Amino acid sequence: MSTPPLAPEGHLLIVGAGLAGYHTARGVRAHGHTGPITIFGEEHRPAYDRPALSKAYLTGAVAEEDLLLDDPEDPLDVIWISGVGVVSLSTDPLGVITQDGVFHPGDAVVITTGASALGLPSATAEETPEALPYVLRNMEDALALRDTDLRGTDVVVVGGGFLALEAAATCMDRGAGSVTVAAGEAYPGSRRLGEPVGEAIRRAHEARGVEFAPPSRAQAIRRCAGDQGQSRYEVLLADGQALAADIVICAIGAEPRTEWLLDAPVQLCPHNGAVLCDDTGATAVPGVYAAGDCAQWASHSSGLRPVGHWQEAFEEAAVVAAALTGAAPVALQEPYFWSDQFNLRIQGVGRIHLADEVTVVDGTPEGADLLVHYSRQGENVGILGINRLRDVTRWRRSSRIRPAAREVPARETVTV
Ligand SMILES: Cc1cc2nc3c(=O)[nH]c(=O)nc-3n(C[C@H](O)[C@H](O)[C@H](O)COP(=O)(O)OP(=O)(O)OC[C@H]3O[C@@H](n4cnc5c(N)ncnc54)[C@H](O)[C@@H]3O)c2cc1C
Repeated sequence: MSTPPLAPEGHLLIVGAGLAGYHTARGVRAHGHTGPITIFGEEHRPAYDRPALSKAYLTGAVAEEDLLLDDPEDPLDVIWISGVGVVSLSTDPLGVITQDGVFHPGDAVVITTGASALGLPSATAEETPEALPYVLRNMEDALALRDTDLRGTDVVVVGGGFLALEAAATCMDRGAGSVTVAAGEAYPGSRRLGEPVGEAIRRAHEARGVEFAPPSRAQAIRRCAGDQGQSRYEVLLADGQALAADIVICAIGAEPRTEWLLDAPVQLCPHNGAVLCDDTGATAVPGVYAAGDCAQWASHSSGLRPVGHWQEAFEEAAVVAAALTGAAPVALQEPYFWSDQFNLRIQGVGRIHLADEVTVVDGTPEGADLLVHYSRQGENVGILGINRLRDVTRWRRSSRIRPAAREVPARETVTV
């Protein structure tokens, strides 16, 4: 499949004013595009960066303006349409429809709508499940948690991923009376990253006072009254136990924001619901691209890319910008992610999700220092370092994958 690049004077529509949307626009302008660019964002605030929302923003170490993506000294030349969600994609004529019913025609569309946080069901029928626990996806979520006085409170964090563990670390730092992580496994993240990594993370958290619930899945949450009549919650585990809390933070994953595309002819990945693209970000619809957390990039030449990491969204935006403008193709680097929890800087490079073997190369789970290799059928597919900046940097510099091939994989090839 080949998609004609956007003409220099063409009108580019970008749906989603987050990291991938912003950097797509920036890249397209850097490649000399002179036509209008419109960025649609449903949030009522300027585009911002998310990683600090579970870390430094929650502790007050950085302010909202520190997270803004646009540079006031060098603002992007784009039309921002904020506070209005896009509700559908039209392919003939090409354009998008906003929730106020207005049709916006364009010459190319880039879908960068990110993801939304998954919630935990309520055990009580009359309660709105989403209203009960805190989640961490956008600035409003983080503001609500930042403005809550955590001192002396019992916090339960549901989830065993990095977001959950970052939230647990932050709550401990902010003086919570107790923080319990319901990770659903003995060592958080060990199903994905291997037991030594999970053990190292658990030990670091326990050393700072974080507790871990029995390895049973959290199934629901219910509201109950504390001994002074205040609102308390119980997180119900599959094994029948209940974890009592003043505050529950739910970080059990995210799903791509593609609900507005269900009637559109773009293909959604059967595995995760993200927009299926080749490794230039092109979808099955000419002129329509996707990048970031709402997009599943995959091709026979580069395989399935992971979804949900900052670096992936940032690089995909650069690739899409080049593909749209006909600039020289940009090669995606090996996938990369990081997480900061207490004194741990955790960094992963490569296709860790494909590994069938995990080997500790250096360090031990007892120390805050570990280097782990991941292999599949004997071939190294990735590494993870805990406080191993130099090793990780060396790996990132040395490995690159081939430039993009323009093909959308058949549905049946999209399996992990
Ligand atoms: C709290 C938090 C901490 C993180 N920390 C790390 C980290 O430490 N390391 C790491 O590698 N990654 C981290 N990530 C992941 C990283 O931030 C994301 O991968 C990245 O933000 C994805 O960018 P995006 O542009 O695809 O989506 P987003 O940044 O989510 O932007 C999408 C935007 O589209 C808007 N939108 C959605 N639907 C519509 C619609 N229909 N119409 C208009 N607008 C719409 C949304 O409101 C949102 O503003 C973190 C994510 C979160 C939430």
